[in-house]
Amino acid sequence: MSDVHGAASGDVSRETIPPQPVGSVAPGAAGSIAASHDSRETTPPDRSDDTPIATETATALRVLGHTGETFHRPGRRRVVTVANQKGGVGKTTTTVNVAAAMALHGLRVLVVDLDPQGNASTALGIDRHAHIPSVYDLLIEGKSLGDVIVDVADVPGLSCVPATIDLAGAEIELVPLVARELRLRRALADFHGEIDYVFIDCPPSLGLLTVNALAAGQEVLIPIQCEYYALEGVGQLLGNIEMVKSHLNPSLFVSTVLLTMYDGRTRLASQVADDVRAHFGSAVLRTLIPRSVRVSEAPSYGQTVMTYDPASPGALCYLDAAREIAERGLDVRADGFNAASFEGSAP
Ligand code: ADP
Ligand code: MG
Repeated sequence: MSDVHGAASGDVSRETIPPQPVGSVAPGAAGSIAASHDSRETTPPDRSDDTPIATETATALRVLGHTGETFHRPGRRRVVTVANQKGGVGKTTTTVNVAAAMALHGLRVLVVDLDPQGNASTALGIDRHAHIPSVYDLLIEGKSLGDVIVDVADVPGLSCVPATIDLAGAEIELVPLVARELRLRRALADFHGEIDYVFIDCPPSLGLLTVNALAAGQEVLIPIQCEYYALEGVGQLLGNIEMVKSHLNPSLFVSTVLLTMYDGRTRLASQVADDVRAHFGSAVLRTLIPRSVRVSEAPSYGQTVMTYDPASPGALCYLDAAREIAERGLDVRADGFNAASFEGSAP
């Protein structure tokens, strides 16, 4: 693993100007944080961002870790499974951005991409078309984690176990294998590299891949999109968590719920937020992630928003979410809610 503190001394101008796709005109291309802000002014306003746009140099420097802020290092490795069987709720976006934010602030972080679509691997700039070692080799071929881990180029301290298209067959190929639910757990346990956080990005289903992820993690992070039917299916997810807890992983619990794609202009979004807080209480992070164009653009450049546009509202909020997760440790427990109460609870 590389020296994570190197992140803090990166080139500010390189980090803060979103790269442009080949052949396009860069909106505001001067190399400074101020220019990065100017570029936001010249592009069409992102009307869905309701949080104030960060304009101050100090803020951007803080995002990049130039003030030397380091996040609290956990006493032992935390393994966080990011799950919600609904697609498009922000699992992958949350995984890569929280992971990158932590790595940029001194922590050693591993992302395990467990979705055959490989969106987390793409967002971390990993070329998935090559015949690269991947999480498939780990789960099906029995390779060790050390054989399939790769460093993420832009973010010192961050590494990834990528997913390739092979993983699409793994749900079926796992079925006859010995200890099929525990293969990821065992691979992580056998890996003695220094890692503070492992984030496992789940596919949008509750099959054997997600069961492997739930069996491997100590804690679950559930991203919930602030939209109609936000809590649909959450009861089923909690039921699965309970099942894995009672049969495979007794210490598993929901540590964190993150509200994503929040649009503060709509009453629906605040209703959903209230509803989620009523159900999950203190497990819900104070930080809300706003809907932000920069967040959705970043993956097409093979980047997280933390490096693509670190001063943008989405990056600042993911930074706050990451800090909250790191600071509050494992004290917050959201055990004890009734899975059945989630059914039909859409506002
Ligand atoms: P999941 O992994 O749960 O399927 P994703 O993280 O891939 O969800 O997000 C679904 C889509 O929504 C992606 O296109 C992503 O870029 C976009 N998205 C996620 N979070 C935000 C956000 N805060 N603002 C704008 N778009 C977002
Ligand atoms: Mg995803």
